[in-house]
Amino acid sequence: MHEFSVARSLISVVLRELERLHARGRVARVFVTVGELSGVVPEALRLAFDLAAAGSALEGAELCVEEVPLVLHCDACDRQWHATEPFLACEECGGMRVTVVSGRELGVTGVDLEEEAPVEGQPIG
Ligand SMILES: [Zn+2]
Repeated sequence: MHEFSVARSLISVVLRELERLHARGRVARVFVTVGELSGVVPEALRLAFDLAAAGSALEGAELCVEEVPLVLHCDACDRQWHATEPFLACEECGGMRVTVVSGRELGVTGVDLEEEAPVEGQPIG
């Protein structure tokens, strides 16, 4: 299952980042962006995440998936459109210089901690 290996790599990214930041507290939410072109099914990713997170510091965290539509742009006629699959040629002019504007995204964009540990040495207010 493709989503399972994606979930595992997302989790290891988050765990590394938490360690680097010396973050404490339970992770309540993990935010990820999933581009249409990434081939990842958000619902399957959520299930895989729950399985892969079991036993780790992310167990029970909610995976919040932001889906990014596949948007293509034609350099020849300057047309930009939402596609369901990556076309190699422009639907409008047949131009072959079509670039992917968005839809390749796949990664962690943020984490919500349930309780934020106070940062030492910083006055409040
Ligand atoms: Zn075109």
